[in-house]
Amino acid sequence: MTHKPCPFCGSYELEYQIGTTDREGIPTNIMCTKCGCTGPWVYLSEKELCCKEDELPERALQHWNSRSPHNYWPS
Ligand SMILES: [Zn+2]
Repeated sequence: MTHKPCPFCGSYELEYQIGTTDREGIPTNIMCTKCGCTGPWVYLSEKELCCKEDELPERALQHWNSRSPHNYWPS
């Protein structure tokens, strides 16, 4: 899956971070490694997180692609 660049600095270098697992699953979000802005948190199952090391979890990526923390994407 392709991802959109960071809405703030335009970087394509993204990584994901994982929060503490709770009853709903594993909170995950996409973060820009350049300016540190983050996408919305989504709960993923363990299975969804089983991707290659250099791959971002697809569902977290969908959220990153669909909106930014400020609901703004430059054209
Ligand atoms: Zn950025």
